[in-house]
Amino acid sequence: MMQSVSYTHDTGKQRLHNFSAGPGALPTEVMEEVRDDLPVFDGMGASIMEVSHRSKEFDAIWASAVEKMKGLLGMGADWHVLFLQGGASMQFYQVPLNFLRADASADYLNTGAWSKKAIKEAKRCGTVNVAASSEADLYTYIPDPADWQLDPKASYVHYTSNNTIFGTQFHFEPEATVPLVCDASSDFLSHPIEVDRYGLIYAGAQKNIGPAGVTAVMVREDFLQTKKNDLPTMLDYRVHVEGDMFNTPPVFAVYIVEKVLRWIEKNGGLGAMTARNDAKAAALYAAIDATDFYNGTAKTDSRSKMNVTYRLPSEELEAQFIKEAKAAGLVGLKGHRSVGGIRASIYNAVSPESVDALISFMQEFERTNG
Ligand code: PMP
Repeated sequence: MMQSVSYTHDTGKQRLHNFSAGPGALPTEVMEEVRDDLPVFDGMGASIMEVSHRSKEFDAIWASAVEKMKGLLGMGADWHVLFLQGGASMQFYQVPLNFLRADASADYLNTGAWSKKAIKEAKRCGTVNVAASSEADLYTYIPDPADWQLDPKASYVHYTSNNTIFGTQFHFEPEATVPLVCDASSDFLSHPIEVDRYGLIYAGAQKNIGPAGVTAVMVREDFLQTKKNDLPTMLDYRVHVEGDMFNTPPVFAVYIVEKVLRWIEKNGGLGAMTARNDAKAAALYAAIDATDFYNGTAKTDSRSKMNVTYRLPSEELEAQFIKEAKAAGLVGLKGHRSVGGIRASIYNAVSPESVDALISFMQEFERTNG
């Protein structure tokens, strides 16, 4: 039985319950607005992707996206908001290139495959101190801060707030005497953060805030002042801060991000997102814990509210689960290729109704196969 979400275009274009890890679900309302802006944007005679990024129309969208981002995160005038390309993966290199000083190391918390990739790139630029790691236990938990070996003289402390592949998440913000740098790609704007602790925050848009092709980078002025000099132009954050769109930005992606930020604002901001995400995650984990048929892979206190990872009794049953879920209108549930199992990504835009539909499906699947 196909289960449609609120919107049906025609039967072949039904929107399904989308649990994709990324690019992930975006609000249907935003998708409809985008559709309505094509092929002509607001009396402009062309769509937004066909005009100059210096046009007054795009300029207004850009300014609004920056303003809404700062407003949602509670960032003051000392913060710069950039929309860059190259994905979060580019930030793995750009951050240490700019900020890993020659006379100091940088602290990295190794909590998953993306943290490890960030560490690899940082090592190209200087000395890295892996202050904590859960790699030996297959990244099933966030290490206890009491065991971290932080260096008080570090250039910064880098961490990955949510581990998309392993389904773990920091439920606290690290305490450090130096600025934090956070890869927030997979839980960005899903809850408020204490921005004063950070020097830089980055997030690929394609999970919680938009389509692939743009990376939001927020950098604080006093941290930016610790930046190294003589860097390649495109990799120097200062160039983008002062350049006022130094080069052509990914206009269509930024235009959609602005709409998603508007949607978050309209739906009550980050406090409301937290409540909505907490409720969805609690319901799904309760369904997993209610039976031995499903087994969560992350340690309980490290469980992610964005990527819920679990196993069934056998790989055959997992393959059958994914296949039958798809036939029932529940898509994107396959775990990352490196770990297998099931991964339900329940980002901001995934509705409580979609989570309820997944829970019902899980109960029915267990009844017939358990
Ligand atoms: N960091 C995290 C936490 C991620 O989930 C991902 C992508 N899944 C990345 C970094 C890499 O992002 P990108 O593909 O945008 O380079």
